[in-house]
Amino acid sequence: MRYEEPVFRPPSEAYSLIIQATIGCSHNKCTFCGMYRGKRFRIRDLEEIKEDILLSKDYYGEVKRIFLADGNALAMPTNSLLEILDFAFEVYPELERVTAYASPNDLLEKTDEEIRELAERGLKMVYLGVETGDDELLREIRKGATAEEMIAAGRKAIDNGMLLSVTILIGIGGKERSYRHAKETAKVINAMEPHYTAALTLMLVPRTPLYRQYEKDLFHPLDKIETLQELRWLIEDIDCRTVFRSNHASNYLPIRGNLPEDKDDILKLIDYSIKNPRILRPEFMRGL
Ligand code: SF4
Repeated sequence: MRYEEPVFRPPSEAYSLIIQATIGCSHNKCTFCGMYRGKRFRIRDLEEIKEDILLSKDYYGEVKRIFLADGNALAMPTNSLLEILDFAFEVYPELERVTAYASPNDLLEKTDEEIRELAERGLKMVYLGVETGDDELLREIRKGATAEEMIAAGRKAIDNGMLLSVTILIGIGGKERSYRHAKETAKVINAMEPHYTAALTLMLVPRTPLYRQYEKDLFHPLDKIETLQELRWLIEDIDCRTVFRSNHASNYLPIRGNLPEDKDDILKLIDYSIKNPRILRPEFMRGL
């Protein structure tokens, strides 16, 4: 396969075939993110993408899931995406779903009809990085969208037939904004009602703007226990139906449960972990 490294994918796409439809991230400004800093965003040539799909057939034979990388394949024009979807289903008749990362603006810029058509032709789920519901923090981390826009983007995907998985970033507000970040994020989740909510825990990435703030003592990261407290504040306020996961390698405590039914059990597990931090993932085993 021809990959332009590094290639990232959500944990739940571990067994998916990854096809790079775009390279890099069209936003590439978030202060905490170093994922695509070395890549200039571009949409790959359609013929090259099709060649990759054909090449992959020789390696894998059968494929049930495809993840379209990089940072926001949904930035691609809808017609091109539809062509890729049709081609992928033709090459892999057993294919069950195609997924991709989407930015809030990608979703807002497409019409309802476009999103519906993409969902019907196989783009079953998008991953949306919400990170926080705190507007001030969204501005500071240069996420490029307000909480209201995040909600509108997420609802647009759901209302037009896509599954929605959102990621939120524990610790992104540092010590000073931890409580507000948790409470405002829960409000956004409740308003959006995503099918899946995944929590990641902030890892400071050298050479990012946030790292430089940290070096100047302008950003104060949470310690292990504080991340659990923040997670608790968040989960206690989530009232909508969503599958909650913190199975990403950046997290100290892996959690999987259905909210709201499993809320009490999850909160008990967090409380237990706060009292018994030895059960948490050690720092050296955390990763992005
Ligand atoms: S967090 Fe997402 S949107 Fe922001 S720069 Fe990184 S990949 Fe792009």
